[in-house]
Amino acid sequence: MSKSPSPLPSLDALARAPEADALIARFGRSAVIEVLRDVVTAHREARRFGLNAVDILDETADALARRATVSQRPVFNLTGTVLHTNLGRAPLPPEAAEAAATAYRSATNLEYDLTTGRRGERDDHISGLLLELTGAEAATVVNNNAAAVLLVLNTLALGKEVPVSRGELIEIGGAFRVPDIMSRSGAVLREVGTTNRTHPRDYQSAIGPGTAALLRVHQANYAIIGFTAAVPTRDLATIAHGANLPLIEDLGSGSLIDLERWGLPHEPTPRGVLADGADVVTFSGDKLLGGPQAGLIVGRADLIGQINANPLKRALRLDKGRLAALEMVLRLYLNPDRLAERLPALRLLTRPESDIHATASRLAGPLRAAWPDREVTVEACHSQIGSGALPVDLLPSAAVCFGGKGLDELATQLRGLARPVIGRIRHDRLWLDCRCLESGDEPAFLEQLPKTC
Ligand SMILES: *Cc1c(COP(=O)(O)O)cnc(C)c1O
Repeated sequence: MSKSPSPLPSLDALARAPEADALIARFGRSAVIEVLRDVVTAHREARRFGLNAVDILDETADALARRATVSQRPVFNLTGTVLHTNLGRAPLPPEAAEAAATAYRSATNLEYDLTTGRRGERDDHISGLLLELTGAEAATVVNNNAAAVLLVLNTLALGKEVPVSRGELIEIGGAFRVPDIMSRSGAVLREVGTTNRTHPRDYQSAIGPGTAALLRVHQANYAIIGFTAAVPTRDLATIAHGANLPLIEDLGSGSLIDLERWGLPHEPTPRGVLADGADVVTFSGDKLLGGPQAGLIVGRADLIGQINANPLKRALRLDKGRLAALEMVLRLYLNPDRLAERLPALRLLTRPESDIHATASRLAGPLRAAWPDREVTVEACHSQIGSGALPVDLLPSAAVCFGGKGLDELATQLRGLARPVIGRIRHDRLWLDCRCLESGDEPAFLEQLPKTC
């Protein structure tokens, strides 16, 4: 015996151990060595000696697996909010997702005119469709609706006043507040009217030489009821045009087709608002439209021309994948008769209650079997459209409901499944609203439930 053995195995010995081979094959030699070094260092610093190679390699395998876990993953949205901003809003139709993937995988004619061989415009792939679907003279598209509002105001009202009703100074999910976006755009907010009532004369008396435009913001995520008055778009357009000013309308969700056709609540359309006299209309791509995240801007050709010439447009533009997905989604609108079947957002919103109830009934048994100590029932409930759309209109739905104590712990278990299940705790129960669990997804949902023997 010449030397006492080192208290922890050397990196070299660990990397040569037979258990390391599988790790090296899977993660690569340098990654394994790097993580091994971290594990050994942590033990040495904590003065934990006497661990054997197998323990250290086990721990390394866990650390490597954690490091390899993909962060953004599919989840089951059983919150009851269909267009859930935190869960990625509208699910794309498969053809749109495939179009995006195809565009990302290869070179495309993104800004290239295949007829002339000259430079083209990236927005040309969708602007024709948008004109057809909204009746606008011109259209452009940016990163999201917040960007659209920012860009429109920065282009048309930099350093100038824009009167907005006090009933429309909204906040959407914290990050989008109309007054903040306005000040960042360089426009000067001129508040008019009161929270519940704004009249034509309020706008008229606010208009002066420093006014650049009038702005109307759709009351997206709240309703003002009771003693109220607002100026309709048509009248506001008359006031704006009388003063030679453009009217900008931020529609928020802006569905391209009147949803009443499918028995859903009325939501103003860009076509309707333009027909009422708005000069520029902005709306989101991933709310009721059912497409990828995008901000669509439609309206008068001269104004859209100015907007496109703003250098900020370049900073806010869409990439080829999202443009490809958006084009496919807009194409689905060319055949409205099949839209509710082919556009997932609309399909989920129009799903019959009886169908959702049948799903909940099918799931209740397996869920009871997976959590035998819990009371599990099928209950009627209400889904929300989400993304600020139509907050007061709820859609009849059905849920599997868990009762009992420790609901937070149950929610954590559900979130820990291979494809996390996100429900909602309300009235001392955990609700899994089955509206967004379509029959094709049921096997994947059931297969991952804990097995109790
Ligand atoms: C949602 C919404 C926005 C923000 O749109 P994003 O696409 O999320 O950027 C702006 N204005 C209104 C009225 C909205 O409803």
